[in-house]
Amino acid sequence: MVDYIVVGFGLAGLSFVDKLESNDKSYLVYENSSEQSSRVAGGLYNPVILKRFTLAWLASEQLELAISVYQNIEDKLKGSLISKLPILRRFNDVKEQNLWFEAYDKPLLNKFLSSNLIKNENEALDIPFCFGKVKHTGKIDVKKMLSLYLSYIEDKKCLIKESFEYDKLVVKEGLVEYKGIKARNLVFSEGYGVRNNPFFNYLPLQGNKGEYIIIKSEQLKLSEAVKSSIFIIPLGDDLYKVGATYNNQDKTSGITKSARENLQNKLERFLKVEYEVIDQVTGIRPTTRDRRPFVGTHSQYKNLHIINGLGSRGILIGPYVTEKLYAHIENGEDLDEEIDIKRYSKLR
Ligand SMILES: Cc1cc2nc3c(=O)[nH]c(=O)nc-3n(C[C@H](O)[C@H](O)[C@H](O)COP(=O)(O)OP(=O)(O)OC[C@H]3O[C@@H](n4cnc5c(N)ncnc54)[C@H](O)[C@@H]3O)c2cc1C
Repeated sequence: MVDYIVVGFGLAGLSFVDKLESNDKSYLVYENSSEQSSRVAGGLYNPVILKRFTLAWLASEQLELAISVYQNIEDKLKGSLISKLPILRRFNDVKEQNLWFEAYDKPLLNKFLSSNLIKNENEALDIPFCFGKVKHTGKIDVKKMLSLYLSYIEDKKCLIKESFEYDKLVVKEGLVEYKGIKARNLVFSEGYGVRNNPFFNYLPLQGNKGEYIIIKSEQLKLSEAVKSSIFIIPLGDDLYKVGATYNNQDKTSGITKSARENLQNKLERFLKVEYEVIDQVTGIRPTTRDRRPFVGTHSQYKNLHIINGLGSRGILIGPYVTEKLYAHIENGEDLDEEIDIKRYSKLR
């Protein structure tokens, strides 16, 4: 008998498991490596929407919590996972520069936007207008964090590297039973894989495929993340992640030539030095129609819960929705309407 079974170990599953760990709950994780969204993510945390210079949903609150959660994980796993990384937003014209200052004048935003315009001094980049710098931003090495955490739970004998077979689950009063294992609760966190889950696949998950190319360029010498029509994210050793694409039509799992060409075209509009594409990665973001996560409890089976829909800004949202779901399950606290899956009860 365990307290929880957790199905899926991307950012959502990791966040929830970490909460269980801090509350001394016992758990078992099922993970089948079928989805890659968290593993390929850029890993940036950034409270500002860079298209419109507005604050992302509950960003200030989520940022504080997320950083403290990832710092604890860093200490526990004894690996360097968080790096502070300024984000420079490239302005396309003077109008955008003015919009930046309008945003800076708003009380909630001015903590995150620098008032100094930054002139490009990197000869590898052709940037005629200035950059605006976003403050309190950084990068989590999500791939490393997931891999270290998986080893940690494997050592504790809490990991089963198998596909969860939904038809083998028996839900009873006060517990669930799965292949001889009993648990008080089960949390599904399968990302885009939830489309195979008969208990929750009524939820309108959209899915948005994202691809990055990884380039090597010795002359680029960039130490900040640059946001133009695409991001360039420094990885160290002259390597950079460039992207990502957004495609809500193609739901296949492989990398594509068209995405690579599209990213290279955009990059070459402002990168003036030589580079080599050394890798390409892809994953399907579990995105939702109303841009809010799916959190909550099954209307009929009170031991089955879900955390999903973290397709964008998963790094900031993961720890926040974990707190909410945990308090909901353990203390009976109500979930905010905007994240509660009850908002889709008519679709069941
Ligand atoms: C290209 C790209 C760039 C991104 N960049 C950023 C960024 O810079 N910053 C940011 O905050 N977010 C970013 N994201 C979004 C974000 O990191 C993830 O999309 C989000 O965290 C989703 O996490 P998840 O755990 O819900 O899903 P996933 O990461 O997909 O994890 C689900 C897990 O469940 C497992 N699973 C599924 N079905 C089963 C089953 N039946 N049995 C066992 N295991 C199962 C899968 O193998 C997988 O490991 C990006 C996403 C993409 C694709």
